[in-house]
Formats: sequence, structure tokens, C-alpha cells
Amino acid sequence: MTAKEIRESFLKFFESQQHLIVPSAPMVVKDDPTLMFTNAGMNQFKDIILGNREPKSRRVTDTQKCLRVSGKHNDLEEVGHDTYHHTMFEMLGNWSFGDYFKKEAITWAYQYLVEVLKIDPKNLYVTVFEGSEEDGLERDNEAAQYWAQFFPQDHIINGNKHDNFWEMGDTGPCGPCSEIHIDSRSEEERKLTPGAALVNKDHPEVIEIWNIVFMQYNRKADGTLEPLPQKVIDTGMGFERLVRILNGKQSNYDTDIFQPLLKSIGELSGFKYGQSEKTDIAMRVIADHIRAIAFSIADGQLPGNAKAGYVIRRILRRAVRYGYTFLNFQEPFLYKLLPALIQEMGEAYPELVAQKVLIGKVIKEEEEAFLRTLSTGINLLDNIIAAAKKEGSTQIAGKQAFTLFDTYGFPLDLTELICHENGLSVELEEFNAEMQKQKERARNAAVIETGDWQYLNNGETESCAWDKTECSCRILRYRKVEQKKKVFYEIVLDHTPFYAEMGGQVGDQGQLVNQNETVEIFDVKRENNMPIHLTTKLPENPNAEWTAKVNVEKRHASEANHTATHLLDQALREVLGTHVEQKGSLVTPDSLRFDFSHFQKVTAEEIRQVEKLVNRRIRENIPLQDHRDVPIDEAKKLGALALFGEKYGDKVRVVQFGNSIELCGGCHAKYTGQIGLFRIVSESSVAAGIRRIEAITGSAAEESMYYMQDVLTQISEMMQSKNIQEAIKKTIEENAHLQKQVEEATQERLAKMREEIVKKSVTTPEGIHIVKQVFVQDIPAQFVKDLAFQIANILPDNTLCAFGSKFDDKPLITVMISKDLVESRKLHAGNLVREAAKLIQGGGGGAPHFATAGGKDTTGIDAAVEKVLELAGL
Ligand code: ATP
Ligand code: MG
Repeated sequence: MTAKEIRESFLKFFESQQHLIVPSAPMVVKDDPTLMFTNAGMNQFKDIILGNREPKSRRVTDTQKCLRVSGKHNDLEEVGHDTYHHTMFEMLGNWSFGDYFKKEAITWAYQYLVEVLKIDPKNLYVTVFEGSEEDGLERDNEAAQYWAQFFPQDHIINGNKHDNFWEMGDTGPCGPCSEIHIDSRSEEERKLTPGAALVNKDHPEVIEIWNIVFMQYNRKADGTLEPLPQKVIDTGMGFERLVRILNGKQSNYDTDIFQPLLKSIGELSGFKYGQSEKTDIAMRVIADHIRAIAFSIADGQLPGNAKAGYVIRRILRRAVRYGYTFLNFQEPFLYKLLPALIQEMGEAYPELVAQKVLIGKVIKEEEEAFLRTLSTGINLLDNIIAAAKKEGSTQIAGKQAFTLFDTYGFPLDLTELICHENGLSVELEEFNAEMQKQKERARNAAVIETGDWQYLNNGETESCAWDKTECSCRILRYRKVEQKKKVFYEIVLDHTPFYAEMGGQVGDQGQLVNQNETVEIFDVKRENNMPIHLTTKLPENPNAEWTAKVNVEKRHASEANHTATHLLDQALREVLGTHVEQKGSLVTPDSLRFDFSHFQKVTAEEIRQVEKLVNRRIRENIPLQDHRDVPIDEAKKLGALALFGEKYGDKVRVVQFGNSIELCGGCHAKYTGQIGLFRIVSESSVAAGIRRIEAITGSAAEESMYYMQDVLTQISEMMQSKNIQEAIKKTIEENAHLQKQVEEATQERLAKMREEIVKKSVTTPEGIHIVKQVFVQDIPAQFVKDLAFQIANILPDNTLCAFGSKFDDKPLITVMISKDLVESRKLHAGNLVREAAKLIQGGGGGAPHFATAGGKDTTGIDAAVEKVLELAGL
């Protein structure tokens, strides 16, 4: 079977068991503060498992794009070094939300693998949870008994809490799990060591392929377990691992999923896969990472220096670094692998094809930037190595290796490699200590302690944010949250007019009010599809009835900015072209920000054109047409703009203002006229091929005009002219003229001084000219230097100049020695001034021929000049 056929057979099998096939959620998670990337099939069902949302079907099946490079699941260091962990992979899964449980899940898993795929059960092993004393749980005998229908006892292995007890987080749904492992070693090897002995032992050919989780408990904040009201089956099978087994290969990379990429890397680098362990690892790393990078960018996550963007940047850098170190790539190469990737996956993932130009540009620019950083780092390391050698050390400090790692993206092995070539090693203990410190810092920053939900009423939240800014409500539940020593409370309401942050629009602020008290809501976030109201003070009587009041002024400002964002999007597509795709947005009451794909700077004229178009549509006062619950296909027929990497349901909301039609869940003005005025305040670049526009509307735009008017008025007053352009031009001309005069006067003065100084110079019996001068008036350093050089022209031989001067209360010693004197008397101007500068509380230095030194104490100038002569023996 081909990879595609295997994927389909899984979905078909579970469809025949009444499962609904649902699409993969995007790999990049938006609007969830707790998760950056989808790392398991269950992520998109979290709200169903937590009971916040009713499932469309109690049985579903899918294949999910996952990325395991951060947080709880981080396989990055394994990837490439082994042959079965990837950064990005597909996870096949089947779910039961309060429907079937262990018996069916186990039976179907067996039937699919053995009866449908014809895998020999002799090579399969299953694990069951052995129990845990601290949790008061005994062995999962129930699961073991169902497995025993299909497997002999020596294929059913006990596993500990770490491997066989799954938990959503510190609190929440959890339960035992069974993993299915497969032994793909040769007959002879199997005879020597039974597979059972190698399960969960990191053997590359005895690997886990499927995990079946039986969620039956809820863990509370105090650590105790209670039964889950609705039990859940959550399974995940690694698609790439399954394909490898069915293709009869020893490594995931030998399957048709990765072969075209490896071939392409081979052609670009001149290395052959299978040639040596080191180059093989590098080729696997690159083949794996290009998938993760390209898919993330297609999903809208660009490499950056924070959060999810930084994770992608690190993956990209890891790939570049392996290519650079082991495959001799000195120039960007990753982006050249895109055609091979698109050839392989473009059909199943049209977003790759649609955005291939952008993806290529972004990757290439990142590569270039990182290769520059690498070479800076290598220079730095060369210096560190030279210094260590000079000191006769055989090691470089762990701290230095850590700086290279942290700032220049040099992993330890690269630093070690380069050190090794120079006969040095890295002091590892210190490096590890620094690494540990950094990890702790990250951990402390991330620790969030959440208490148990306190339930007051049952039910789910109904939102009226699109229609109202005020409604009466009750609190359904609340809990305490602590982060970085700050305490706040999360409140869930039965009805809410508050908009919860999503799709770039920030959450509302406002109050919960009744006769007795007022509770300030400082933000509203969305967690697992539920609006969570944040406050620092818990109501005294949470059971009371409340009026929820949104801060209307801020809300209306946000609405105006959101609607303006749509008009901006539309105008950009008209002025620049339909290649403009939204790549991110931020809508707050104060301003709006819009990122979009476009390959050059937007010119000033284009900006003006866009502003004019938007303002014209504001004046046209176009009404909002709010289409709700539109089937997604109909919305697409309407021509609604959708975003890549965004998760849309079957029914969507379409926001229309005239010809601006977008899928959108945000709050909008009722008429475009409410925006008042639109002004773009900046245009910049965010990444290769991505531009950013920031703009303001309404009263903020009005204020900005007043500000500009005020500035102009003030300038006009200062210039005492109504025609400020003319006045400024005149001033600039006058200024240039004056400067020229000053320059001439200075030259004259210099000439006069020069003459006087030379006249005053003395000649020693040996014929050495000593030109000594302490200036009493303030003289700029450059002036003194010019003087010294001019004197050198008049007295080119046998001359020593020693000047003391000051400017702005800062003393300066200047010494100039003619070349012949430097040689014949072994003099060094730098050394002379350094020593003499001590008398003016300063320091300095320079060449043998010319040097200056500044200081702090002007009273020492005379003594310092004398010191120079004394030191020179004159
Ligand atoms: P492993 O111990 O091999 O890392 P896991 O226990 O982390 O696996 P689960 O979290 O149970 O795996 O995920 C379910 C399935 O997803 C696994 O059985 C495996 O087939 C697959 N899988 C997990 N991590 C990866 C990965 N990094 N690359 C490819 N497939 C993976
Ligand atoms: Mg794992």
C-alpha cells in the first residue's frame, strides 16, 4: 500500500464503525494561551473532553498534523539521530466521547492492525498500566483482560505511571493507557532476544506505534482523583511509523514519505544517503525539518524571535547548522528543497502550493541571516580559542560556550567540534550549569498554578458580544490562578456581552455590577472555546445576580478598528494586487496592525491611495451585513476571504461591508461611517515577503491631525513666517554660508597660532626642536590635531610637539614626534601620553608617531606637558 492508501484505510475502517471523519486542525495553534502547536490528535477536542462543547458525533476519527518541538512533548533532540521521531508527523486517531470504552477500542485496534493490515500478531506487544500506590490505583486488569482475548500473556507487558498513565495537565482528565509496540527485527535477531525484553527500551526496531488512552478520572488541584462523568477514548497512531512497517522498512526515512527529500538533499550536497552515520544524521535532520518549517509558514507562523516564531526559527537553524557542519553547505540550501516537498505533499496540502513563493522567500532570508550569525560566531570562537592557546589553556570556559549557544545558536557539539580541531576542549560542568540556570528561569516564568473550578451553576456560556454590550448574568464557575506571584480569578458566566480575545481582536474590559458591589474585569481570554473573564478581586457574593457591562467607549473603538482592518485588507488587494494575503492582525481600542504578504516596500503613493480608498468607503457609510451560520461552502461561493491555517467549522460567520467580504468572528461597526477617519501611521517589514501596516482611526486619527497641526504652527512661530518651507530653506542656506565663514576664520586663526608657536619653539644643543604649548582658551581636539600636523609639515625632522589643551572642562594632552626621532631615540608617543595622562586623571594612547590622552583634571595640564618632555629625556 502507498502512504495515501494507508491513511485512507484507517479512516475507512473507523468510518465503518460509525465514526465521523473530521479534518485535521491547523498545526499552529492560535487563540490558546496554553499551547503553541498541536502536539497530539486530542488537542482540537479538548473543549469537548472538558465538557465545554457538545461533539457533533460521539465517535470521530481523523489524521492530525502534529509538531513536537516544545513544552510537554519535545522530540527535537532525537530527530535525525534516530529513525522514528519527527518534529512534524501525522497522528491517526479514533475518539469516543462518552460512547464506547475499553472493550471496543481494544478490539478495533487489533482488528485494524491484524485483520485489515495483516500485521503478524506474533510481532505485536501491548502494555497495560501496572497501578500506582500513591494514587490508590490497581493494575488496569480490565484492559489486560480484553487484550488477553487476542494475545498470549507474554505479549502483555506491565508499564509504569510514566509510560502508561496519561494526564492532560497538572489537573483535569486523565487515565491509564495501553501502547501497541511492534518488533520489526529479523527472524534471527528475534530468536536471540524476545521482543518483550526490548519494549520501551529505545530499540530502533522495536517501537511504539499506537497509544490508546482510557480517560476515566479527573485530577483535582490537591492531586486526588475523581471519576470522570463522561469517559473518553483517545487514540494516536504515528502515521510515518505505520507506513514504514507496512513498507517493510527499517527506518521511517526509507519510506516514500522521505525518499524524494533525501534524494534532493543528496543532489544538492553531493553526499549520498547511507554513506556515513554523520552525514546520514544531517540528511535526516534536514529532510525532517523542511517539512515542519514549510508547513508552519503555510499555516501562518513565520520564524521570529519570540514564542512560536522562535521555535520555528530554532528548527530552521538546526537544519542549517547540520547542513553547514556536516554537508558543507555554505550558502542557503533549505529553500531549494521546496519543490521536492511540494511534489510529494502539495496535492494533499494545497496551502503549500498556494504559498510556495512566500515560503521560499521567508526560508531563504532566514537562512542568509543565520549563516551571517554563524560566521560572526565562528570569528568569536576563533578569538576565544586564540586567547585560550595564548594562556596555555587546554580548555575554553563553559560560560563562553554557553554565550555562543545562547546568542549565536551554536549548539555545544559544534563548539566542541571546532575546539577539538584546535586541540582544545570545552569546560562542560560550567556549560551545563549555565544551561540548567536558563532552564530554571524559563520554568519559573511559565509556572501557573490553577485551583479547582468552583461550580455555582451548571451550563455553558452564551455569548451576545456581537449584539450587546450589556446583559444580566450569573456566575457559572470560578477559580483562582497564580502566576509569577500575582493572583487573579477566572470567571465563567452563563451569559456574556464581553468579547473574548480571538482572531487578533483583544478582549473587552468592563465590569460586573449589582446593588452591592462592582467587580472590574480587566481582560477576557478564550480557553478551550470558553470566554474566561479575568479579575483581581473575587465578588463577595458570587451567587448574586449581575449586570455585565462592557466598557463601551473601548469596545466601539475596537469595532471601528476591526472594520477598518477589513477595509484596509480590501484596499490593499485593490492597490497592490490579489497576492496580498492577511498574515496576522492586532485590533485594540487604540490602533490596528495588519501583516500581509507583499514582496516590496509599499510606496508613499500607494499608501496614500490605500488611505483614500478606505476613507472614501468610510464616507459612503456602508452598512454591516452580518451573515451568521452560513455553511462554509456557501461562504466560499460568496467570495469570502478565509485565512490559511485557520480552523473553521461547518458553519461560519461572514462579515460584509459592500464588496469587502470576510470570514470573521470579531466585533464590527454597524456602519463604516462610525470609523470616522483612517490614517496609516507606519509601514515596515516583518520578514521576507511580509509587510506590516499600523493605522489609527476615529478620535485617535483626529488627535494625530491636531498634533501635526500644532507642530506646524509652532515651527511657523519659531521661524516667524507663514511660509515655513521657504523660511526653513532660507535658514539652511544661511547656515551653510555661515559655516563656510567659520571655516575660513578658523583656518586663519590656525595659521596665526602656528606661526607663533613655531617662533616660540626651542632647539636643543643636539638640534632637536621642542614645540611646547599650553592653550588657555577652549580649543576643540580636532583643532589641536590639525595644528600638530601642520607643524609637522613645517618642521618635518627632529621635532617633538607637546600640547596641553582643554575643551568643556576636559583636559587633553597631544603628542607628535617626527619619524626620525621615534627611531633614533626609541620614543613612543602613545607610551608618553599614557604615563603623562595620570597627572590629568586620565588615560589614552596611540601610535609611536602621534597620540592623545584625555582626562578629568584640567589643573594638571601644565605638569602633564612637562612630564612628556621629562619622559622623552628632553
Ligand atoms: P515515543 O515514546 O516513541 O516518543 P510517545 O509515547 O511520545 O512515543 P504518544 O504521545 O503516545 O507517543 O503518541 C502517539 C503515537 O504517535 C505514538 O505511538 C507514535 O506512533 C507517534 N509519535 C509520537 N511521537 C512521535 C514523533 N516525534 N514522530 C513520529 N511519530 C510519533
Ligand atoms: Mg515521545
